[in-house]
Amino acid sequence: VLPVVAIIGRPNVGKSTLVNRVLGRREAVVQDVPGVTRDRVRYTTEWAGTPFVVVDTGGWEVDVHGLDARVAEQAEIAIELADVVVFVVDASVGATGTDEAVVKLIRRSGKPVVLAANKVDDERTEADAAALWSLGLGEPHPVSALHGRGSGDLLDAVLKAV
Ligand code: GDP
Ligand code: MG
Repeated sequence: VLPVVAIIGRPNVGKSTLVNRVLGRREAVVQDVPGVTRDRVRYTTEWAGTPFVVVDTGGWEVDVHGLDARVAEQAEIAIELADVVVFVVDASVGATGTDEAVVKLIRRSGKPVVLAANKVDDERTEADAAALWSLGLGEPHPVSALHGRGSGDLLDAVLKAV
């Protein structure tokens, strides 16, 4: 049975872009409009010779009233099914209330978590990643899912947590 790595986080933080980066191909659907990814999509891949399943999450509706509840619901299911959780935060925005709510779910689950500080496209924005220590999930791993920066180090950390 392959380890399951769930990619969770708010809409538009770059989860599907990160999944594509991990897969090395464009399969997960990326759009500027949040809510494009179906509820949970599984892909089998490998890193450094270790096969694993990566799960992209999404599927919540863009509904100002229900958004937080839907994020929490999807995150909760994905966390439950995962061996390791990759929590993706948009470092260019910083931690939001929704991010903090997801942190509570992760903590409650007791699952190992790797914090991905996404959209750190260059070294000028490294400080945005460091600010995410405040989430209390340990070291934020700066990454640019779009350009690939930091993705190897992130995957090393993920496999170490399996
Ligand atoms: P998801 O809703 O979390 O799956 O987010 P997507 O992967 O669909 O990405 C949402 C938007 O953020 C898209 O316009 C992406 O191109 C953009 N994006 C994702 N990763 C990065 C990144 O590392 N840097 C920048 N600048 N934009 C990114
Ligand atoms: Mg997506």
